[in-house]
Amino acid sequence: MTAAARARTPLVAANWKMHLVAAEATAFCRALLAAERPTRVEAAIFPSYTLLPAVAAALAGSEIGVGGQDLHPDDSGAHTGDVSGAQLRDAGCGWVIVGHSERRRDHGEDDVTVAKKLAAAARHGLRAILCLGETREERRGGATFAVLERQLAAALATAPGSAADWVVAYEPVWAIGTGDTATPAQAQEAHAFLRERVAALAPGALAGELRLLYGGSVKPDNAEELARQPDVDGFLVGGASLDAAKFLAIIHGCAAGR
Ligand code: PEP
Repeated sequence: MTAAARARTPLVAANWKMHLVAAEATAFCRALLAAERPTRVEAAIFPSYTLLPAVAAALAGSEIGVGGQDLHPDDSGAHTGDVSGAQLRDAGCGWVIVGHSERRRDHGEDDVTVAKKLAAAARHGLRAILCLGETREERRGGATFAVLERQLAAALATAPGSAADWVVAYEPVWAIGTGDTATPAQAQEAHAFLRERVAALAPGALAGELRLLYGGSVKPDNAEELARQPDVDGFLVGGASLDAAKFLAIIHGCAAGR
């Protein structure tokens, strides 16, 4: 592993999507805090908005981050059902997910909207996890790298300048919630491409320091091998993150692979 890779603290993030209620969320946090966790892996939880105060309170004083699953590009206004960066901060968030494929699919978010959300996150001092990835049809059609390039370039047009401010999650849409995990070689190939493109599109120290997460059916039994890839700096985990024991096992797998 290169010195640059070693300098990148791995991050394992739990995307709870539209799951759990407050009592379940609090029990999860208690289990996480009570367990032995490797200190060299950062962890963060992304619950539904209604759970944010309970999760932020349960994790207060710990090293575990809390974030929203989305935010509106505007700072406030007439946007029924949406949430602003200021509101996420107020609810105890330090993080936010931007551009998840389920938002792109369910809410028609395009690359321009995603870039605006990334800028809003930066304005409100929220560290962002930018999600990008190709569909199965795009992969079959040989368009994977073109899709990644397009999504990345749009985001970099407004992205914050420091690698501390954001993280990129490569999430092939065909691997999300399907059990069809990318092979370590597929993940590494996409991550190496993304790092190379960040270096080209945003010269400076950013590319070497930027953390690139893999997301898509990560489980306790595939985390270590994926984390062994030189450009895989952690995970964004959906389904398996709903179970504290499985999420912990993924954190340990990540630490073992680095
Ligand atoms: C996700 O939704 O970000 C995700 C990676 O989901 P899963 O782990 O369930 O594939």
